[in-house]
Amino acid sequence: MQYFTESHNMLRASVRKFIAREIAPHVDKWEKDETFPREIYKKAGDAGFLGLCYPEELGGTPADLFHMVAYTEELMRCGSVGLSSSLNCGSIAVPPIFAVGTDEQKKTYIPPVLEGEKIAVLGVTEQSGGSDVASLRTRAERKGDKYIVNGSKTFITGGSRADYVTTAVRTGGPGAGGISLLIIPTDTPGFSVSRKIEKMGWCASDTAELFFDNCEVPVENRLGEENRGFAYIMLNFQKERLYLAVQAHAVAEYALELAIKYAKERVAFGSPLTGFQVTRHKLSEMATLVEISKQFNYFVAAKIEAGEDAYREVCMAKNFGTKSCDRVVYDAVQIHGGYGYCREYMVERLYRDSRIFSIGGGTYEIMNEVISKRLNL
Ligand SMILES: Cc1cc2nc3c(=O)[nH]c(=O)nc-3n(C[C@H](O)[C@H](O)[C@H](O)COP(=O)(O)OP(=O)(O)OC[C@H]3O[C@@H](n4cnc5c(N)ncnc54)[C@H](O)[C@@H]3O)c2cc1C
Repeated sequence: MQYFTESHNMLRASVRKFIAREIAPHVDKWEKDETFPREIYKKAGDAGFLGLCYPEELGGTPADLFHMVAYTEELMRCGSVGLSSSLNCGSIAVPPIFAVGTDEQKKTYIPPVLEGEKIAVLGVTEQSGGSDVASLRTRAERKGDKYIVNGSKTFITGGSRADYVTTAVRTGGPGAGGISLLIIPTDTPGFSVSRKIEKMGWCASDTAELFFDNCEVPVENRLGEENRGFAYIMLNFQKERLYLAVQAHAVAEYALELAIKYAKERVAFGSPLTGFQVTRHKLSEMATLVEISKQFNYFVAAKIEAGEDAYREVCMAKNFGTKSCDRVVYDAVQIHGGYGYCREYMVERLYRDSRIFSIGGGTYEIMNEVISKRLNL
């Protein structure tokens, strides 16, 4: 099945060049420093990457879902999944603005993010729980033409240097029907970054806790209707989960390639590792998992692109892709022996960076819950 055209391949080539020129020479230092320069956003914006799939009048680059798939796959080879996630934090913050924002909101908030001038992040998760979005507690009380926002968010990718936060707040009663989305500029008095969180992987990615202390937010910053925010958050979940599944198969494929290379070169007991049947079979099983998850992700992307309902399949793709990736990176480290446990080997980073795939964007267990509902269980 042929999913990619010349146009997708050209995009791949330009992402590869971008990585070679702007990221690869510095990425190890950035991982160590646990940050990367803000100017990378601007460079990626200038290259048209941050605007993929948005209309030109908003500063976007017209593209289809397979351009996003190709872009995501290539970025997984930049040496830092965390950098890629922070760089693309707008890909979860901007879709609700695009989907339900007014023309004014779109014109004000979208172009600067797609151009890499401003950073927009999505603030949904709170300390009290991320899976149970409907129970979030950050409160926005209406006072005339303003909301007064009090509460906090955690694990927010890109949060410590964001310019605005697409924030889920409680404007109504308990449950999903009491949530609204507000665009909160981070220069609003009362907004602060409480701390940057240290993590197992995604080291170059900025993950922050945000605090809202009596932040006054104009009502005109609300996205869509009051108390409809839960539905707006759900709108982009299909694509977010598909991209995570694609990240997982791409990281697994990269780890497989590194493991094959290493197994051919490394000699033990007078034979390359590939001389042992157990290693060959391990690599064969890894390749099987990579291929199946990749092809299923392409199939799901094609379904979404055709406008078909793929809600159940997206969850299956995320779970199969992330579980397969877990297995493949584990075995890639195993094949590298002690070197696989060392920082200077890429498989070590891929092992750490991929652990979050089955947690973020809906956990493995929550994906199974969604699938089971679709099975009428
Ligand atoms: C590096 C990183 C980046 C992130 N970026 C963002 C971001 O940019 N914006 C944002 O809003 N959030 C972000 N998150 C948050 C992420 O989406 C949440 O961590 C995730 O949704 C899980 O929520 P939780 O951590 O509170 O776990 P919990 O919801 O507390 O879950 C804990 C465990 O219980 C299980 N569980 C919960 N409910 C059920 C159930 N009903 N049935 C069975 N098992 C269940 C879960 O599967 C999990 O295993 C990020 C997280 C990380 C670590």
